[in-house]
Amino acid sequence: MASIFTKIANGEIPSYKVASDDKHFAFLDINPVVPGHTLVIPRRESDYIFDLDDEEYTQLQLFAKRVAKAMQKALPCKRIGTAVIGMEVPHVHIHLIPLNTEGDMDFRREKLTLDNKDMADIAAAIAKEFE
Ligand code: 5GP
Repeated sequence: MASIFTKIANGEIPSYKVASDDKHFAFLDINPVVPGHTLVIPRRESDYIFDLDDEEYTQLQLFAKRVAKAMQKALPCKRIGTAVIGMEVPHVHIHLIPLNTEGDMDFRREKLTLDNKDMADIAAAIAKEFE
């Protein structure tokens, strides 16, 4: 059965899309730690990032770098943090998080629920800067 993230990348489950190419998809985390929290996935399903072969791993990181550059331009923040956790969804994903303080990377704090318009505006702002 397809993973929830495969269904998102295929448009079967709605998401706030930020960027995509033929092998990758980026979208807003539904419960962000801070506004703009983005997930970057390979379209090919794999559970664990360090099981990817070198080519797939490198391409994923390079795609995530392009998304991070767009986030940096679109959102007011000091830098973009990156993390891989994968304890909840068994489909490789890189978290990209706009940071103003170290605490913005704290995954244990209460997650946010933004309204639809805010999520759509943030996704559109990042998408506009994506190159
Ligand atoms: P992890 O697997 O890295 O521990 O966490 C998975 C992340 O995916 C969480 O931050 C969670 O909020 C996010 N997430 C889980 N299900 C969905 C979903 O259906 N849509 C979106 N956009 N994000 C999700």
